[in-house]
Amino acid sequence: MPNLKTPLSELTSASKTTLNRLEKLKIQTAEDLLYHFPFRYDDYSKILTIAELKTKKSGTIKGKISLIANHRSPRKKMVITEAIISDKTDSIKVVWFNQPFLIKILRSGLEVYLAGKIDVDDYYGMQFLNPSYEIVNSKDPIHTGRLVPIYPATVNLSQKQLRYLIRQTIPLTQDIEDWLPREIRSKYNLTSTTFALEQIHFPQNREWLERAAHRLKFDELFLIQTRNQLVRQKIKSLVAPKIEFKLEETKKFVDNLPFKLTDAQRKSSWEIINNLETSAPMNRLLEGDVGSGKTIVGVLAILNVLLNGYQVAYMAPTEILAEQHFKNITELLKDYPFKIGLLTRENIKTNKDEKNKKVKIYEEISSGKIKLIIGTHSLIQEKVKFKNLAMTIIDEQHRFGVAQRAAFLNQANPENKKKDPNYSPHFLSMTATPIPRSVALTLYGDLDLSIIDEMPPGRKKVLTSIVKPDETEKIYKFIREEIKNGRQIFVICPLIDQSDQLGVKSVKEEYKKLSEKIFPDLTLGFLHGRMKAKEKEEIMKKFDQNKINILISTTVIEVGIDIPNASVMIVEGAERFGLAQLYQLRGRIGRAEHQSHCFLFLENEGEKAKQRLKALITAQNGFELAEMDLEMRGPGEVFGTSQAGFFTDLKIARLSDVVILKEAQEAADKVFNKDNSLKTYPLLQDKISQFAQTAHLE
Ligand code: ADP
Ligand code: MG
Repeated sequence: MPNLKTPLSELTSASKTTLNRLEKLKIQTAEDLLYHFPFRYDDYSKILTIAELKTKKSGTIKGKISLIANHRSPRKKMVITEAIISDKTDSIKVVWFNQPFLIKILRSGLEVYLAGKIDVDDYYGMQFLNPSYEIVNSKDPIHTGRLVPIYPATVNLSQKQLRYLIRQTIPLTQDIEDWLPREIRSKYNLTSTTFALEQIHFPQNREWLERAAHRLKFDELFLIQTRNQLVRQKIKSLVAPKIEFKLEETKKFVDNLPFKLTDAQRKSSWEIINNLETSAPMNRLLEGDVGSGKTIVGVLAILNVLLNGYQVAYMAPTEILAEQHFKNITELLKDYPFKIGLLTRENIKTNKDEKNKKVKIYEEISSGKIKLIIGTHSLIQEKVKFKNLAMTIIDEQHRFGVAQRAAFLNQANPENKKKDPNYSPHFLSMTATPIPRSVALTLYGDLDLSIIDEMPPGRKKVLTSIVKPDETEKIYKFIREEIKNGRQIFVICPLIDQSDQLGVKSVKEEYKKLSEKIFPDLTLGFLHGRMKAKEKEEIMKKFDQNKINILISTTVIEVGIDIPNASVMIVEGAERFGLAQLYQLRGRIGRAEHQSHCFLFLENEGEKAKQRLKALITAQNGFELAEMDLEMRGPGEVFGTSQAGFFTDLKIARLSDVVILKEAQEAADKVFNKDNSLKTYPLLQDKISQFAQTAHLE
């Protein structure tokens, strides 16, 4: 009997290509497919007469095909299918491009639904252009004649294919046993899962859609809250090594820094150090704006752990960043005897020997010779075994998936775990994503929070502006001036389309334009996702040494890069980026005493886009920007248009869903207070364990 866990390959007749494409969207089972939600709906629910359609210009009609034929367009070599559709009131010409097979499906005399828009052309007159079609025989049309679901990024799958596949799996929802306790469902007036899953994809009407969305949002938020409760409870039962605070050494270290710690840095360090002194594992998120100085706070914790004789593992999301941390931290700890290693796919070394063999590194990590190992995902490998790992740090944690974070955390010392199955290292996670406290309590409620809400003194605010089309010359002139004064420039390009995921195309075009036409006398360089790590490093090194004036790049430079001499950033097609991303990008400049400037170039001058970007100009800090981002999305926005916001972990719920958020919290408390083992709720227990791996729950 097929069920929700049945692989799609056994469930449908979809081709291998289709299945592969689905897999790219992480869709393998019926359940995955059902939880791939639409992000909006076209309302074709009302069936118009053709006469009405002609006045309204868009909608669904029902009519009979009286003529259909293919032509070849003389110039463009395109196949054009033309048809005449009539009903009692009128008839209209329909045109489809490049779908020659249509004449096999839509034969003369058939009755069809057509949904879409009318195009009025001086030459051709009124035409129904490329409408969705559906033959009238199904009691329940899925592409026309209803609220039609539109799905997000589909990697070459058509909306039609997706709808068809999802429709096929809907009957499986009949057998779903609802995992949400009955008393919760009735208290909060929630629909069944069966209803919700069907209606979210193929809603009967707006009201039912709302109810379906409500249930699914509630589920998501409820599961997060319940998981957080479980994690907190679990952590209390785990044991980490107590790290004694080395007051004298720490004081000496801090006194020798070339700067004074900010109050916020002191406070965060203090919270962390206190946490390390207890045997309950730390599970903490350190939050602070780009450039607020999180690294040094991490280093103070590292220093204490190393002085206690234990190991630390430090994971960063990119090669460049891992390399930079290695360089900075070895410098900071140069007066200590600790051996520090770097392990990335491309680069392996220690502070004691420049080049090193992989095997030797693994060996020295497991023998405990290397005390601090800094790296990328390369750290999450079977081969990497620790002798006495007491703390793990993840930098820019939002760049890692839940599973990666869990895997990393789980690499605690197997030896210690053998002795004590409850052993767990301390865990510190860092992020520059400014998450308002209220939100952090919801989404990351399993973590304790330390916030660095103040910048080191002397930083100037980056002046940000939206560039009007006629100001381009002026900006280029300004750039020349800055370069003459010794400064450097970033130019950031967007990814143009799905097929150009690595941004090769836009970076190359921009590089060509700037280096050939505008700044032929200057030195330019570029970076994009298809370059080898070695090549990227080479370019970054040159930029770091001011051998490149202008660096054209995709967002690969987004995370953590520190080039204090760069004072200008141009963002091309700024409206294509999320606010959070722009904010991170802009953090690359303004890192020294020079007044820095960020210029946003738009491809399309939309009012909405401009308003959104203005938040970047007015917000005083990241936290404020995050709040504004939240507000602009607004509670009215049932389905956010862009997922590229600050909080990408949510699938359907929005942080602006305050009421549901509160109810879900209350419900989770209720369930948990009644039975904190969840043993009386086996279905819920099961659901939680699939919902997200969290290292501490394993
Ligand atoms: P982020 O929080 O983005 O990770 P970093 O830790 O990379 O920030 O710090 C950014 C820069 O600020 C570094 O060059 C660091 O040496 C410097 N810095 C950190 N703390 C202070 C401070 N209290 N005063 C002055 N400079 C500082
Ligand atoms: Mg950092």
